[in-house]
Amino acid sequence: MTYSPISRRGFMRTGLASGAILAGTASVRATDAASDGFSYEVTRTEDEWKAMLSDADYKILRGGSTELPKTSPLWQETANGSYACKGCDLHTYDATWKVSLDKGWAFFHHSVPNSVLTDIDGLVPEYGSDMNNDGPGAMMEAHCRRCGSHLGHIVIADGMLLHCINGSSLNFTPADA
Ligand SMILES: [Zn+2]
Repeated sequence: MTYSPISRRGFMRTGLASGAILAGTASVRATDAASDGFSYEVTRTEDEWKAMLSDADYKILRGGSTELPKTSPLWQETANGSYACKGCDLHTYDATWKVSLDKGWAFFHHSVPNSVLTDIDGLVPEYGSDMNNDGPGAMMEAHCRRCGSHLGHIVIADGMLLHCINGSSLNFTPADA
């Protein structure tokens, strides 16, 4: 499989339970940091990103991929503490807002104010998306406001509108650390 950091979305088919909208193979229009006209506070060259992230984390944070469920231990982390973007250490989530769902990713009711930006991601043709127009089936992507790294998506899961975040995109600091 060829990986391109520009074309984003090696979005893997996931096992999220019915009722949620996180699933599917997706492609997306070019809305990456380099092409959407937004100036991020923290920028790095691709070589610098690759040097600081593992290959797997790079594909998620910089390529927009999604980790397989339950591959990062943070999905079931229950301790008090804070979660920061792995790309730039911006405080993005607090344990207080975490929701325990047995789906394999870290779910939060919301993010720290002004820490997360949204984008359109993952038009899924099998959900009725018209690939020439943004329509039903598009997902809302959550990415870091400071460095643009892909964190996850904002989805409906178990009837709640939640941030569904890759544990791989976050660093957790326990409150008593
Ligand atoms: Zn960041």
